[in-house]
Amino acid sequence: MLEESTLDFDELDEHDFVTWMRQWGLAPEHAAVSSLMLVYETLFAHLDDRAPYRMGELACGVALRWFLLVSFGYEGAPAYDFGWSCAETLITPYYQALRQLGTEVHFFHRVERLGFAGSGDDKQLSRVHLRVQATVAEGREYQPLRLDYDPPAWPMTPDWSQLREGAELRERGIDLECAYDGWPGVGERVLVQGDDFDVCVLAIPLGALPPVIDELIDPRSPHFDPNWHAFVDGTALTQTLSTQLWFRRDAAQLFDQRDAATGRSRVRGLATGFAQPQASFGELSHLIAHERWPAPAPVLLTYHTGALEGAVRLPSVGDATRGFPAAERLRARGIVEAWLRENHRGLFDGELTDFDALLDALAVPPEQECSGIERLWAQHFNIACQPSDLYVLSRPRQTRLRRAPHDSGARFLLLAGDWTKTDMNCGCVEGATQSGMLAARALSGHPIYIWRVGF
Ligand SMILES: Cc1cc2nc3c(=O)[nH]c(=O)nc-3n(C[C@H](O)[C@H](O)[C@H](O)COP(=O)(O)OP(=O)(O)OC[C@H]3O[C@@H](n4cnc5c(N)ncnc54)[C@H](O)[C@@H]3O)c2cc1C
Repeated sequence: MLEESTLDFDELDEHDFVTWMRQWGLAPEHAAVSSLMLVYETLFAHLDDRAPYRMGELACGVALRWFLLVSFGYEGAPAYDFGWSCAETLITPYYQALRQLGTEVHFFHRVERLGFAGSGDDKQLSRVHLRVQATVAEGREYQPLRLDYDPPAWPMTPDWSQLREGAELRERGIDLECAYDGWPGVGERVLVQGDDFDVCVLAIPLGALPPVIDELIDPRSPHFDPNWHAFVDGTALTQTLSTQLWFRRDAAQLFDQRDAATGRSRVRGLATGFAQPQASFGELSHLIAHERWPAPAPVLLTYHTGALEGAVRLPSVGDATRGFPAAERLRARGIVEAWLRENHRGLFDGELTDFDALLDALAVPPEQECSGIERLWAQHFNIACQPSDLYVLSRPRQTRLRRAPHDSGARFLLLAGDWTKTDMNCGCVEGATQSGMLAARALSGHPIYIWRVGF
């Protein structure tokens, strides 16, 4: 950086991180050392050129900032695992704080489209078109949390008993978070600027944005904005795949716990750089206590995640693609089975030497008791196959396309999310949080202090 007289990391975002490091002397044999791999893997831009996985490309400024942040920015460790699940750790406190502040939360409303008026400097958000997916029985307020858990938990499916349409939705197996399900909802609602809202904060993920902001990105629209078009068209998104495996054997049986070099016991914790496409790993056995398994409960829980092929476009929503999520879930099984068959000894290097023994070590709920490969299918897989679940990549030359939370190009519209222009410019909770704080400050002048990486 000194040689290039670069003061601003963002300027380096035109280059790929490792390519830039090599330009300044990184030896080719060090391009895949674990400290660099960590940056690529944790931002889902992995460094693996085996088909079908791509050779990763990662904006250099984003990567350098991330590298410095995780290396030196946090006290004690580069990363921490959550005490509870992601939703309970991150979202429950926000939700409860908002409720205590008197915020109303209207569940089961999907934003379908934003409507604009005016042009140039007078362009403004005028309408928000919502699809009402379901209504709460007897006009009551929907209670989303399972209060019998501590901390209160978010269930896998809505509490159907609170919804008028609950029985039908349950019977038809409708997933209200699925864009492909074809559930028409029970009505529409239009929010009008000035009557129903003053300012709107758009925090929908980038993958789901195109139909919502069609008026800004369709060149035939009178409200067309070439910068929005360039951003949506030019920003790469990727599918991710995550797997959770529960075991009825403990760490002593699953893992070789002695480090051959030092003789010390090896703690698994959080790690990355393992075989694609499930390169990142977490030993999260502490979550089992919150899961209310019938006895005998599993004793070990591992989490695996990684990116699939880069720069995907999911099929558009319609009758012809209704089966897409189910087909993707089947595809995910095939990918995980192949990955585990080929690589299980690299991770589970303890007493269970063959694949069948590993399958037998998996825990399954009593009502699903089974054998062989079926035990693997009883575990949890999550392939990102909804537009809103795609992960926003930070590729070279794409940071400059991002829009800051205060810079939507339309009055009465602010932006928030990990896809906006912040200090981070990458898919992480720090970036999403900073973005939300910047939107709040643009709206109200508060908070005055906003967390920044500082470089
Ligand atoms: C597999 C995986 C692992 C990750 N691990 C980590 C990690 O360990 N640490 C970390 O910091 N980050 C991690 N991330 C990244 C992190 O999850 C994201 O950066 C963060 O969630 C982005 O927050 P957001 O508020 O921008 O978007 P989201 O968290 O996606 O929230 C957007 C919300 O909008 C809702 N929505 C979507 N469409 C509509 C619509 N039409 N109408 C109304 N609402 C809508 C969605 O349901 C969602 O609730 C991970 C991401 C993935 C995919």
